[in-house]
Amino acid sequence: MGRGRPEPAGSTGTVPGRRAFVAHVHRLRRNPGATVVVDVHGVVADLAVAGVAVPDGAEAGLTGSLASYPGGIEVTGRVRAPWRAACRRCGAPIDGMVDTEVRERCVPGGPASGDEEAYELADELDLEPLVRDAVLLALPLAPLCRETCAGLCPECGADRNVAPCGCRPPADPRWSALDALAGPGGGDPPLPA
Ligand SMILES: [Zn+2]
Ligand SMILES: [Zn+2]
Repeated sequence: MGRGRPEPAGSTGTVPGRRAFVAHVHRLRRNPGATVVVDVHGVVADLAVAGVAVPDGAEAGLTGSLASYPGGIEVTGRVRAPWRAACRRCGAPIDGMVDTEVRERCVPGGPASGDEEAYELADELDLEPLVRDAVLLALPLAPLCRETCAGLCPECGADRNVAPCGCRPPADPRWSALDALAGPGGGDPPLPA
């Protein structure tokens, strides 16, 4: 987008409170075609889905660029944030990192402008909603401590990653319930054994 060197638009340090993600875009909006770098980070409250969360006090950040076009501003870059979760199989704590690419439009009126995927653009550009959505979308849905995690034994609760516990796999109770339902005279004839 080269119109000379990008100049900083967003705050480059940690600003307390919600202002951390606000970029000042007055000049940028007056210059369609111009691009500035953006580097904002701060604490975003309640970044969590289904047991996977950005730890309290940990920061999310966006680095990239803001490009002005006649209808608004396009944000491109990377969103990063640390996350913590419990392994879905064994419960062991896991730490990970969201690192995801974003490319979003910000227009006056936001979704109400008719561009339902666009973010709100006012005199200032608050990038927090964009960062929040990007992190929530990128958090893992079923994190495992490792792909081969053997999980906990459903019989005795032992961590089978540590040592086999020797339990035999139980007969699946769902099938015995079905057997009972399919008793004499009811439902389909039982399958031959
Ligand atoms: Zn595990
Ligand atoms: Zn066991």
